[in-house]
Amino acid sequence: MATSSTGVETVDEQGAAEAGSSKPPAIRTVHLRKEYGDIVALKNLSLEVPEGSIYGLIGPNGAGKTTLLRILATLLEPTYGEVTVAGINILETPERVHPYIGFMSDRFSLYEDLRVWEYLDHFARCYRIGPSRRKRLIDEALELVGLTKRRDTLVGALSRGMRQRLCFARTLLHQPKILLLDEPASGIDPAGRIEFRELLKELGRAGCTILISSHILTEMTDFCTHIGIIEQGELLVSGPVEYVFQQLHGGLLIRVRVLAKADRAAEVAREHPLIKEAQVFDAQVDLLFEGNREDVPSVIRLLAQHEVPMIGFEVVERDLESIYLRLASPEIS
Ligand code: ATP
Repeated sequence: MATSSTGVETVDEQGAAEAGSSKPPAIRTVHLRKEYGDIVALKNLSLEVPEGSIYGLIGPNGAGKTTLLRILATLLEPTYGEVTVAGINILETPERVHPYIGFMSDRFSLYEDLRVWEYLDHFARCYRIGPSRRKRLIDEALELVGLTKRRDTLVGALSRGMRQRLCFARTLLHQPKILLLDEPASGIDPAGRIEFRELLKELGRAGCTILISSHILTEMTDFCTHIGIIEQGELLVSGPVEYVFQQLHGGLLIRVRVLAKADRAAEVAREHPLIKEAQVFDAQVDLLFEGNREDVPSVIRLLAQHEVPMIGFEVVERDLESIYLRLASPEIS
């Protein structure tokens, strides 16, 4: 094992080679179900989060994200199912997993009358971190979240975004190798969110496994390695981002801009064997295309042959938001 600058233990190259490519996942659930009375929050949910991944759990309000994260953090018991975190069966021995996980809830309360450092010191003691390491770990955590200058500020005087950062510092304090983050950036301003993403990437590079929930999809695309889309307690799709894109895309989106006759353009485009769908938005026609990029020019040729007055033509890379919207549509759910 090697220790990175962020303090997270990482498997060194030799260790990784010995371990082979089939490392057990950092988090694994099998047929997980959670009922709250009549409400079924999780249905038969089987999930694998690979070690070292940044896994974005995406879903609308009420999808079951918080329920899943609270089960993984040992704060809630499932109705049935299996759960392994860091190789530990957390339903049998929940206390064994605590040193390995850092959980940040979407709702949290802080001790208003403590100073920032005192608040962290309190939790460091809870984690039984000895006095010699406490100061260093507190300083490192404050530095990581950008609160060093607020070390002596009363918690009650912090802004919402700063409170969120402090809560994140507390989550990192004992250097867990698995982070469970429930909508952690919701109170942070745009610049702070960018910094926060960079910090998550750094922790990911240091070998930390991160499971992060969100319903703000566009924010997840550039830093997550894996994505799971959850809705009504079911995992609709899960895997590396590329894989999820492939699964859900089923084709490219071609956007054509026309001077006039947009309806006619859509009609012509529908004659093409690889066009699955054509939608008109004023002077723009969006074509759902099932072919490869090499086949795209054949669409231009067809439109030109029919004298469609094209002034623009582009292949649009669709983001997770559009994928998600498709998944969330009634005919799919
Ligand atoms: P959000 O994005 O709004 O936080 P979520 O994806 O985190 O939503 P959960 O909070 O896990 O979803 O809720 C899943 C379902 O379980 C919802 O229907 C919710 O109303 C229900 N639920 C959650 N907690 C409880 C509870 N303590 N008692 C009863 N029902 C609950």
